[in-house]
Amino acid sequence: MDPSITAQVATITKRLNTAVDVKPLPRVLVSDSDAYTVASLPGGWVVVSAKMVTLLGANPDALAGILAHEYAHVEDNDALKQMTGAMGADTMVSLTIQGKYTEASNVAVQLMNFSHNMDDEEKADTEGVRIASSAGYDPKGILTAINTLEAVTPLSDAQWLAVHPVNAKRLRMLAGDVAVYAADQQKK
Ligand SMILES: [Zn+2]
Repeated sequence: MDPSITAQVATITKRLNTAVDVKPLPRVLVSDSDAYTVASLPGGWVVVSAKMVTLLGANPDALAGILAHEYAHVEDNDALKQMTGAMGADTMVSLTIQGKYTEASNVAVQLMNFSHNMDDEEKADTEGVRIASSAGYDPKGILTAINTLEAVTPLSDAQWLAVHPVNAKRLRMLAGDVAVYAADQQKK
């Protein structure tokens, strides 16, 4: 894997870690999945595909925004809630414990086809914007990330959108959150 990709992720992760409200801190892995994906997993793992880093990497605010959204899911333990009862969750956790990260992330990418519900999404949006903003990133980054993903062809490659469904209400609320934190940053 291109070391500049892991370096980019490490730089952002270090800053987000100063703003996240969970212990132990989320651990971020870069996967070689074919899809544009970022996912949170039970146990505080966040997996981002190298493809996603390449897609958003020119705009660190966008990459930070989407990672912060996953950090918010980690804070709420949403992946575990969602996967409780789903076959394979135990397998995945044991793989990550054994350090088989690539294998684990491939399993995870399959499991993460379960969509989050809209309540969890809206909550993760608000908290994600807070995390990105307190880490010093432009809170609009998540909106840029969503726009960029919506332009991906074929759209089915933009796996994050399928798992984190975007609708008009969510976008309206997200824009509201962004405006609050953008105004906050200007005051500082
Ligand atoms: Zn989400």
